[in-house]
Amino acid sequence: MGEKRHVLARLAYWQHRLGIQPWRVTVNAVAGPHIRQSDEETTLCRIERNPDDLSAVLHVALGRAPDELDNDICHECLHLLLGETNTLVQMLAGRLGAEARRLAQDQWRDVEERLVSMLQRALTPDT
Ligand SMILES: [Zn+2]
Repeated sequence: MGEKRHVLARLAYWQHRLGIQPWRVTVNAVAGPHIRQSDEETTLCRIERNPDDLSAVLHVALGRAPDELDNDICHECLHLLLGETNTLVQMLAGRLGAEARRLAQDQWRDVEERLVSMLQRALTPDT
């Protein structure tokens, strides 16, 4: 599968470029057209982080333009880069009451997504 090889090569590139080689990332390449995010949502790419042992699973839908695929891989690698910050936020949020915890986690999710999107746009060519 040439496309999966392409994904692995780009993943190695971004891990090196972002200095996140310690993460062991397994690729789950799906033929497409999308992957499941939750019961209601689908997406084209997502990453599951396990900061306890620095492992992750990159779920990626294939059958797309190489540039688009690359932007998504970069994007998900940036989520790994923020893995430590996410762990810290989750730990602190865990000390709050239920309502404040939910608020803190929602706010952080938005901030992380915005930050990752901004960095990805800065790092990848316009498509
Ligand atoms: Zn994201």
